[in-house]
Amino acid sequence: MSTKIRVTVWNEGRHEKTSPEVAKVYPKGIHGAIAAGLTKQGDFTVKTATLDQDDEHGLPEKLLAKTDVLTWWGHMAHGDVKDEIVDRVQKHVLQGMGLIVLHSGHYSKIFRRLMGTGCGLKWREAAEMERLWVVSPSHPIVRGLGQYIELEHTEMYGELFDIPQPDEQVFISWFEGGDVFRSGCCWNRGAGKVFYFRPGHETFPIFHNKQIIQVLANACRWAARPTGTAYSLDAPNIPVPLNPIPKKDH
Ligand code: ZN
Repeated sequence: MSTKIRVTVWNEGRHEKTSPEVAKVYPKGIHGAIAAGLTKQGDFTVKTATLDQDDEHGLPEKLLAKTDVLTWWGHMAHGDVKDEIVDRVQKHVLQGMGLIVLHSGHYSKIFRRLMGTGCGLKWREAAEMERLWVVSPSHPIVRGLGQYIELEHTEMYGELFDIPQPDEQVFISWFEGGDVFRSGCCWNRGAGKVFYFRPGHETFPIFHNKQIIQVLANACRWAARPTGTAYSLDAPNIPVPLNPIPKKDH
């Protein structure tokens, strides 16, 4: 049996079809670039799925059951994702499947569902320089990186980012225009781990960047579905205790 981590890379996949500018940056789609980068690492089995692939957005139950980590990129069509698929992804996250939410995925139904907050932020498209500072140097997600990652041209995302306080903060970004942003955030949800990673605007070649792929690979290893988890979605009554309880008057 393969010990490789099973990753499913999900992409909305609309920009690449409607914008020649985006198609030029990602001729095989954003999902194609991420999948190629992860496959090169050697320890992942990578599948891809897209919104318009079929009536389940490429995410049937049988695929999610065999997915250790799902990565999610969406932007212009969050509303087209069916609620029943969001329910399904949420169930798998609670049962242990890792979820990596990328860039504009901050407004996806699944991220907002798991966070429980509005998940809004500030933004600006001015091809600014971004410096992502590592603020948790021992965290597995930053393995192999230096003190920071520098991206020459990015879209800016700024605070206030309307999220619950992360369980672990891994990156904080500074932008040329003066804004800052919590750009790498970890949460535990049920038995699952969730990582939000900010870079990834569709008109910049972010997912061809080796350091960005390194972070995604590290994040997939960190978030991979655990084996033997005791987590249950049920709330069973346990009338017979493990240890005997002396009879009480009240
Ligand atoms: Zn963007």
